[in-house]
Amino acid sequence: MKLINNSTAYKKTITALIIIQLSLFSTLFGAPHKNDRILRKPKLILVIVVDQMRVDYLDRFRDLMCDTGFRFLMEKGTRCTNCRYEYTPTNTAPGHSFILSGIYPGISGIISNEWYSTVRRREVYCVEDSSVFSIGIDPWEAAGRMSPKNFSGTTVGDQLKTISPDSKVIGIAINDRGAILPAGKHADGAFWFDPQSGKWISSNYYFKHLPSWVSAYNDRHLPESYLNKQWIKLLPDSDYVRQGIDDAPGEGTIAGETTRVFPHLAADLNDPNIIRTSVFRRFDALLPTTFGDDLTRQFAEEAISGECLGQCGVTDVLTISFSSLDYCGHIFGPDSYEIEDMIIRLDRQLAGLFSFVDSTIGVKNTVIVLTADHGVCSLPEKSIAGMAGRINGKDVLVDIKVRIGQKFDYNEGSDNLLLAFSNDYVYLDYDGIKEHGFNIDSFEVAVGEAGLKEPYASRYYTRTQIEQSMASGGSTDSILC
Ligand SMILES: [Zn+2]
Repeated sequence: MKLINNSTAYKKTITALIIIQLSLFSTLFGAPHKNDRILRKPKLILVIVVDQMRVDYLDRFRDLMCDTGFRFLMEKGTRCTNCRYEYTPTNTAPGHSFILSGIYPGISGIISNEWYSTVRRREVYCVEDSSVFSIGIDPWEAAGRMSPKNFSGTTVGDQLKTISPDSKVIGIAINDRGAILPAGKHADGAFWFDPQSGKWISSNYYFKHLPSWVSAYNDRHLPESYLNKQWIKLLPDSDYVRQGIDDAPGEGTIAGETTRVFPHLAADLNDPNIIRTSVFRRFDALLPTTFGDDLTRQFAEEAISGECLGQCGVTDVLTISFSSLDYCGHIFGPDSYEIEDMIIRLDRQLAGLFSFVDSTIGVKNTVIVLTADHGVCSLPEKSIAGMAGRINGKDVLVDIKVRIGQKFDYNEGSDNLLLAFSNDYVYLDYDGIKEHGFNIDSFEVAVGEAGLKEPYASRYYTRTQIEQSMASGGSTDSILC
């Protein structure tokens, strides 16, 4: 049972896949050689995912960008516009699993960041894997017990390795899913940041021990140098006015902060003086700031050197997901000073990364792809149409249970036929519905109609409708997976 609310529909509408592929020659990073136009194998395929980056950011902030970051790709590469993800929900895990596999969530199994398992009767995280252990921290720590086990399919990197076994495929991101899913099932390594320890970690899905270059990097404790550091705006105040005001309604705060305006502080959350409203890990305040992207870029460059990517005679794949924009967007929304500064600073960070790639591998030997895993809608408080709001999934489930309880003769409190509300899906206990002698179709429709009474719900699809549409090749199958 899938409920579509207005915000979901809007998010899908504005979500656009940005793909900028750099041709195999460059005029910006050195003069092109006459043979550069000849098609030849790249030394490195560099896939950059900017988490939650809306396509319009490229034009909204274009005048503030430098020549060698986003604009280098836009002006020297191929820009594919009007691309869309034909599924819902468009969030991080489905996006990252789709980008290099082309496999829809309904087939890959990565239908969301987490979903309710009717078998396990609990929420499942997209890359959780209790059969593996953490590498780089205590093996039993949950942060590293991740793998692509739940993903069914292959990626570009997986396919590359079947014809070029010596090629390396590496995935990097602050968050685990952003590192693991694009790299695929046969990656040589995926690395993500543990906000508790401040280390880049992995799991024994990939290897028994961290590569020595990762351990050496962790031993430098660079993330600690960002703790208690101020994040200030890069540009003059006048350049941010296009985003409205800094202290805008609906914006949240970074962990450890009490205000929602610049300058921000990436607080050390181990500091006992920090006023806590929730449980945080020591480095959590870095995640929604530009410092998270700094760490990602630094680590990616270490990986290029440490793994000899693009420098050993074969084509390698490096996927980098910049996760901090997503963390920031969830707090401040797309029309904030913070998002503008994140993009402008990421522009400079990309320029630095491209310069590093040019000096080590040669940009002309590198295929660079830049895209986003999904977009984001404006904060409801900033909705121009005034038809948006915030809903609480727990409230939705309670409301639907009450309405169903009035329509069907059973005790929902003890019988629990409505198992969960997750990612706009209402999960039903089909065995229980049958045992009670209720008609499945009627029960599904009743739940859907009950859901429509919720604010902002516009339509629903039942499991039966989705299955029938998929079986008949209908349009629903490419959207609802
Ligand atoms: Zn995302």
